[in-house]
Parts: sequence; C-alpha cells; structure tokens
Amino acid sequence: RLSKRLEMIAQEVPAGSRLADIGSDHALLPSFLAQQGTILRGVAGEVNAGPFEAALKQVRSAGLDGIIDVRLGDGLQVISPGEVDVITIAGMGGTLIASILEAGISKLAGVRRLVLQPNVGEANVRQWLLDHEWVLTGEKIMREDGKTYEILTAVPTDLAPYGNNELYASRTLPGGLIADRKLMLQMGPFLLREASQVWIDKWLNELEKLNRICERLSHSELEASRSKEAEIKREMQRIKEVLELCT
Ligand code: SAM
Repeated sequence: RLSKRLEMIAQEVPAGSRLADIGSDHALLPSFLAQQGTILRGVAGEVNAGPFEAALKQVRSAGLDGIIDVRLGDGLQVISPGEVDVITIAGMGGTLIASILEAGISKLAGVRRLVLQPNVGEANVRQWLLDHEWVLTGEKIMREDGKTYEILTAVPTDLAPYGNNELYASRTLPGGLIADRKLMLQMGPFLLREASQVWIDKWLNELEKLNRICERLSHSELEASRSKEAEIKREMQRIKEVLELCT
C-alpha cells in the first residue's frame, strides 16, 4: 500500500503522462501510477546504488519493466530533453530539489508539470519556481506519521492561467495585514488563503522552533547574535499576526 503522502502526489499526475520520478527510492510512485494505468511511460531515477537496486527489483517483480525504466544517475541527468512531460521530486529537502532543477534546467524544455514535495525548505522551491518562470497551480498540505508535508504543483508560464505577478501580488488579509511576496514565498500563496488546521499547526510549531533559537541567541554576547535575534523576533511577529487572523 502506498503512503497517504505518495497517494496525494500521485493524484497530481495527469492521466496519459510520461513521468520521471527523480530520487525514486523503491520506485513506489511510478509503479503505482503504472499499475493504475495513469502513466504511459515512466523513468525512475536514483543517484544511489542501494535504492537503484531496490527500484529495479520492485519494477521487475511487479512486471512493469515494459513501462518503467530504472536509471542510475544524478538528478535530471537520467532523462533526455523532451522525453517526459511530468517530473516528480519528493521526500528531499527544498534546497536539494531546487539544486536538482537548476542543474537539469536544459531537461525541462517540454516538461508540462512539476510535482514537488519538499520535506523542509519549501520557500526555496517556491523561490526557484518564481525565478525560472514556473507558476504554482496548487499547494497541498498533509500530515502523516507525525510529520507535515507540502506538495507543490507548477506549470510553465505559457501553460498557466495567470502569471506569477498575479499569484504573488500583495494582498490585504481580512484584518488589515498585508501579505507580500516574501510572506507568500515563505508560507505558500494557496496555503495562506486556505489556512487549514494542518498549516496553522505547522506554523505554530515553527514559532516554537524560532523561539528556541532566540533563547539560545539571547545567551550570547556577540553583536551578530543580537541582530539575528531581533530579525527572528520580527519574523515571529509577522507569523503570529498571520495566525491570529486565521484562528
Ligand atoms: N521519492 C521517494 C519518496 O518520496 O518516498 C523517496 C524519497 S527518499 C527519502 C530520497 C531519495 O532521493 C533517496 O533514495 C536518495 O538516494 C535520492 N536522491 C538524493 N539526491 C538525489 C539526486 N541528486 N538525484 C537522484 N536521486 C537522489
């Protein structure tokens, strides 16, 4: 059985897609999508030998080797330009996801959709998408086994029903607070609008983490620690104001 997290990622892959799942581990996601008949072709990419072998075994034992090709390589190096129209990258940090996209940018020509699930550092992924003219078309947030996950879906500008200027345009939240680009990159433009309980809990938890960092910094005599502490306190204030409006 697929985890709820992978199931939610799978829902973002349109029927008839040619998919590359990068960092596929046991190739569970492409296997599920092939078994369902959602994808026509799949590439399961892995940079590490152990997960690569596990993916090969999974695909063979499920009799899916006619549909899914398991390839060993770093990031998007495993695909050729124009080979796939959807790329999923899930279960890694946001910085790593952004660096995989950056290093493989030439392979994105012809890709119609990215489905990205960073475990942490979602803002890095949103920033990368914004900088490279990909437009977020949806964000989901969910909790499983005590962890919170965000799933970001994006399309190239020419396929998007609106542009990034519209998506990230500053808006006044009910209560008068201005949600600007920086805040939306951090908290998610769709997630901010939806303000689900899971999202609120995630940010309450972030506030606790930031508070602990401030406590540690307050014991330091260094000037740099003072200014870092002040910066974190301002950030915490902004997050608190947003959450107060949502609850
Ligand atoms: N995508 C699966 C999921 O969401 O359940 C597996 C996530 S697993 C935690 C991350 C996988 O990414 C590991 O198997 C790791 O070997 C692989 N990985 C890390 N960096 C990679 C890279 N640059 N290119 C390809 N795979 C990578």
